Amino acid sequence: MISKIEEKLHSYYDEMVQIRRYLHQHPELSFQEVKTPKYIADYHRKIGLEVKEEVGERGVVATLTGGKPGPTVALRADFDALPMQDEKDVPYKSKVPGVTHACGHDGHTALLLILAKALKSEQDSLEGSVVFIHQHAEELAPGGAIAMIADGCLEGVDVIFGTHLWATEPTGVIQYNENALMAAADKFEIFVQGKGGHGAQPHNSKDAILLGSQLVESFQQIVSRRVDPLDPVVISVGSFEAKNAFNVIADTAKLIGTVRTFDEQTQRQVQEEMNRVIDGLAASFGAEVNFHYYKGYPALINHCEESQFVRDITKDIPEISKVEESKPQMGGEDFSYYLHHVKGAFFFTGAQSPNWDVTYPHHHPKFDIDEKAMLYGAKALARLTLASFQKYK
Ligand code: MN
Repeated sequence: MISKIEEKLHSYYDEMVQIRRYLHQHPELSFQEVKTPKYIADYHRKIGLEVKEEVGERGVVATLTGGKPGPTVALRADFDALPMQDEKDVPYKSKVPGVTHACGHDGHTALLLILAKALKSEQDSLEGSVVFIHQHAEELAPGGAIAMIADGCLEGVDVIFGTHLWATEPTGVIQYNENALMAAADKFEIFVQGKGGHGAQPHNSKDAILLGSQLVESFQQIVSRRVDPLDPVVISVGSFEAKNAFNVIADTAKLIGTVRTFDEQTQRQVQEEMNRVIDGLAASFGAEVNFHYYKGYPALINHCEESQFVRDITKDIPEISKVEESKPQMGGEDFSYYLHHVKGAFFFTGAQSPNWDVTYPHHHPKFDIDEKAMLYGAKALARLTLASFQKYK
């Protein structure tokens, strides 16, 4: 049956590209998706699937009930875009100023829709059911996954799989990890309240910029001197605001940044160490510093057996040249939440075209995917679905 489904996927490839390019031209931001979920729901309805809309507010869940009883496999694709200008010079460039699909979620959606159509054509022979989870708002915490799960998208699901098209790995490569694949992604905000003054009279002021600078430096000492070097941590200050005239000492400064970790204990440790550094420096300056730490997505920890299943099943796809273990990535993904509820695995599908001279990374204004990779991602999920009907029955 897999060969029939794969034949369908090949014959629907042009449509897959059309869908992806349509979505690429009409991107929508996280938690503002209206037309995209409607488009997805309409497509599933048109091919004859049962559809639930507004799942967790903006998500779409479509169900394909197999002709024979068996396990239920969930497949997830996200569909939100990013607040960036599309700087690619291509015919399918974004038509929405300041919004673009710079992470490949348009490709995830297109490949899942076409996979649904291909599986639908074999509905009577399917020995189990498939739940297509189209998730809004992956790019912005708290994310769409948590709301869709609360709204029941995993009810009756035995196992879940998801893939991310990965433009920094060549098309034809599949990457899995039996354990941590993506990091916990937290955010912090720091408000420094010093005392302003004349630039020529520093002794009468409390310099918020100097205090802020010392915070930035000291945070790097947490990474290099407080946390076990074998335990990966990133602390990045992405924004440091303190605007004044050239001859004025700043009274306030605002710092915003992110912390990435894999281990929950390390995550707690980093937060505590940041607190200590802030309290110590605030005391030494005699200034006031407010620290707000916001937990984002938890680390994406795959289930070992299901990751090995991804490895074993995808290696037999003719177009897949290499299946290898991925290093854990410091990026975040709210697929992690699904894995707290059901077993499953998330993996990368290489999407770097051999024809490119330059590869632009995810979230770059010129980011693009090799569209051929959508076909391979669909094949991987197709094989995992059929194999899961046997494995979990
Ligand atoms: Mn993404």
